[in-house]
Amino acid sequence: MKVARFFNPERIEIVEEPVPEISPGEVLLRVEACGLCGTDLFKLKKGAGGKVLGHEVSGVVEETKGNTRLSPGDRVFVAHHIPCFLCHHCRRGNFSLCSLFQSTNIHPGGFSQYIRIPTQNVEKGTIKLSPTISFDEATLIEPFACVWRNLKRLSPLPDDEILIIGAGPAGIMHLHLLKLKGIEEVDIMEIKKERRKMAEKFHPRKTLSPQDIQEKKYDICVVCAGNTQAIGEGLKRLKKGGKLSIFAQVPEGSSIQVDPNLIYFETTFLGTYSSSPIEQREIYNLMKMGKIKGKDFITHTFPLSRIKEAVNLALEGRDSLKIITHPQR
Ligand SMILES: [Zn+2]
Ligand SMILES: [Zn+2]
Repeated sequence: MKVARFFNPERIEIVEEPVPEISPGEVLLRVEACGLCGTDLFKLKKGAGGKVLGHEVSGVVEETKGNTRLSPGDRVFVAHHIPCFLCHHCRRGNFSLCSLFQSTNIHPGGFSQYIRIPTQNVEKGTIKLSPTISFDEATLIEPFACVWRNLKRLSPLPDDEILIIGAGPAGIMHLHLLKLKGIEEVDIMEIKKERRKMAEKFHPRKTLSPQDIQEKKYDICVVCAGNTQAIGEGLKRLKKGGKLSIFAQVPEGSSIQVDPNLIYFETTFLGTYSSSPIEQREIYNLMKMGKIKGKDFITHTFPLSRIKEAVNLALEGRDSLKIITHPQR
């Protein structure tokens, strides 16, 4: 089978490797689509050491062993990490801090023609797809679920004014889901002109550039750009008692300066990392109901052999939103 191994943005190799072997309870998946995520790019820029990236996966069950809830031919979405639902962190809803969550994964990774799905993931993290949901659309379950979880943690009120910083896929998904929740006073701020133009299609109240001088303050600022300037921008634009949401990872060793009085006077800082099968199911249901239409968010598709082009396009971050690869083509 063909697999993409990632080293750095200049070095991504397509190699031939044996199809993974499965043990009882496990499933072999033929990957039909895998989305490129901001976190894949983050890892690649840091140096990925030949790892197979990709975790926004959908495909067809090729083979099963022993008793599993799936059968060959099933079309599925697969979660790469699975919480135990029982530990200290899980009982507090912090599923992504669970040690099982952090140790489970698909093998070797989504940018591969086949993957082995461990038993835990088969049992708790797969969703059989309705025929109305395409493989491409199903890859959006994971990223949308992460955004949905962030919104649950932020619990915005209907009259909140919200600023999203960064109009990449995560920013646009926040905008879409906030509107689905009945919140309409949502502005989006973006440095790049092409992305501001694209954001317009999703009907924010206003699209702003960081240069726009405006005194407006917000109840919630969601930072979907992985740099400290963006976080500073969000902080500057918060109302008294507002909430700052950090949705994108920043380079290790970064720091920001905060006057502790800001926290004393009830500013809230909130982060969120990843999602659980609960949010994934909720997003899948919203898709089935037609509330999230995959084609609105997917701008480019590539065969696995052209993964480097896909990565370059995503790194450029101009007129692309979600970029999907098709390992079988
Ligand atoms: Zn992702
Ligand atoms: Zn747990």
